[in-house]
Amino acid sequence: MNVKLNNGVEMPQLGFGVFKVEEGETVVEAVKKAIEVGYRSIDTAAIYKNEAGVGQAISESGVPREELFITSKVWNSDQGYESTLKAFDASLERLGLDYLDLYLVHWPTPKQDKYVETYKALEKLYADGKVRSIGVSNFKISHLERLFSETTVKPVVNQVELHPYHSQSELRKFCRENGIYVEAWGPLMQGGEALNNEVIAKIAEQHGKTPAQVILRWHLQSEIIAIPKSITPSRIEENFQVFDFELSGADMEQIDALNENKHQGPDPDDMNVF
Ligand code: NAD
Repeated sequence: MNVKLNNGVEMPQLGFGVFKVEEGETVVEAVKKAIEVGYRSIDTAAIYKNEAGVGQAISESGVPREELFITSKVWNSDQGYESTLKAFDASLERLGLDYLDLYLVHWPTPKQDKYVETYKALEKLYADGKVRSIGVSNFKISHLERLFSETTVKPVVNQVELHPYHSQSELRKFCRENGIYVEAWGPLMQGGEALNNEVIAKIAEQHGKTPAQVILRWHLQSEIIAIPKSITPSRIEENFQVFDFELSGADMEQIDALNENKHQGPDPDDMNVF
């Protein structure tokens, strides 16, 4: 199922993430399996150091390039106008592609204060037709407001940590009001305790589904784009089997009530890994 982004481009609401998936055979096999079971959106990043394997899987998948939606991201140490343009070309080359569907500023890293010029480089890539849409990741409301006042093209998505234990309601409301889709990274809490939550387990049992499937269904019904990761073939498939059931309003409310603002990643203002 696709969502329509604010520039009219369509993006699958459920995609496949490859953070921490080892370059080489591991990533090639995982992405090929994902494409085989039906995923059409793949989320990588320069810092994951597996773009070449993702590209190999794409070319070996037999699925036409235009049916896939490929995302990558500019890493913190490459921020800046010219360095971002270069980083984009390097990602494209490693992926073996001639365009990306989505390119993101990976983190705002406000302490180095370069995300506005970095985003302006994304606007240039977009204007030049090298990328079909541009967006941001890990941006808080303050970072988005600054972008709105200093740049022209509205980001299509903001990819942030989001799962039932960190449901980001304020940021989601702000993004919705501004026509930006929220995309969840760590949609399964990176394998963390949400997967063992009793409320989720009970809902899963009632639907004859697994906790992971219930959490992913909660994302989809909350109008969130989700990109779960796994290298286990059965889980890659399991995480895609979420279009054949529906959570009730009561199920959704119970999951919404689990929020504890508990996050795995850093506060974006404090991100200092380069
Ligand atoms: P995730 O929430 O997708 O969790 C993945 C982990 O959950 C797996 O390693 C496994 O331990 C477990 N898991 C997966 N399927 C399962 C199942 N069916 N049953 C039980 N356990 C299961 O975490 P993630 O990989 O960090 O996030 C997803 C994607 O988001 C990444 O791969 C990456 O593409 C992206 N991401 C982006 C950022 C960013 O800063 N923009 C940060 C982290 C991740």
